[in-house]
Amino acid sequence: MSQAMGEREPAMRQVDPTTTERGDRPAASGTARIVAQRLERLYATRKSEVKALGPLDLEVRDGEFLCVVGPSGCGKSTFLRLVGGLVRPTAGEIDVIHDDPARHLVSIVFQDHSIFPWQTVEQNVRTGLDIATNLTKVEKKTRVDELLDLMGLAAFARSYPASLSGGMRQRVSIARALAVDPEILLMDEPFGSLDAQLRTILQEELIQLWEQDRRTVIFVTHALDEAIFLGDRVVIMSARPGVLRSEVEVPFPRPRSHDLRGTSEFAELVQRTWDVLRDEVVAELEEARAVGRSADGARR
Ligand code: ADP
Ligand code: MG
Repeated sequence: MSQAMGEREPAMRQVDPTTTERGDRPAASGTARIVAQRLERLYATRKSEVKALGPLDLEVRDGEFLCVVGPSGCGKSTFLRLVGGLVRPTAGEIDVIHDDPARHLVSIVFQDHSIFPWQTVEQNVRTGLDIATNLTKVEKKTRVDELLDLMGLAAFARSYPASLSGGMRQRVSIARALAVDPEILLMDEPFGSLDAQLRTILQEELIQLWEQDRRTVIFVTHALDEAIFLGDRVVIMSARPGVLRSEVEVPFPRPRSHDLRGTSEFAELVQRTWDVLRDEVVAELEEARAVGRSADGARR
């Protein structure tokens, strides 16, 4: 998938899988990487134009768990929408390079509202499969059952989302996104509305799951400890329009477990990353204040 300004045809670039570095990852994993070059997105409203993102240069490696942090409104969700093909770039390019055209490319998990309240847990998980694949009924059932089992949802297969806790609902969202076995998983603050304890547990479940297949993931979050616990790398975006401000390679070995959070190395890295992000959050607050002042001025 390639999208650029103007009406250029989307180009599917092929990469020779034999030349792609897979490291020690299991053979079942895909080979999908993402390259953003001078990527920009503007939103035009009737009154004005908002430059939400860019120019952004960023490469997400094959099989990488990349976390993205940045002040609110800096274009993180916009970046995911661009990767997922939900919006087009205003300038620059975003390429998703992968080697298996038969495989489902991208699934997205949002913070809320990504499951259908009128469908049971089982139906929700099956919905993606119905749309995106040509599996037989029996194959679908097997796949759904496997996922429900994996995500600890088997006992709730016939429940409706309203009867589940927030954590269980997010598990359903993740199971639904994984049902089509996408090469790339995009997660937009998926645990943002959960309380701290539940969030910790879902982080641990997610990372165990990911360590088994190591598909390419972009995970957007506000929480630095979450980013560092999960990610191979954390990129920090500037205040709007978001550009790459800094990046941190996370050195902690895998598999990662709960114990990592208690180490001094972990605390130091969270602190060091916060020192960078702090400047951007302050810049975002100052801009919001300035906008408030000029709005006050205009009212007077
Ligand atoms: P983030 O996810 O980092 O909080 P977003 O990507 O949602 O940021 O938004 C970036 C900026 O673009 C914000 O100022 C937001 O108000 C604006 N924006 C996002 N979507 C739209 C839209 N559809 N129309 C107009 N402005 C938008
Ligand atoms: Mg967002």
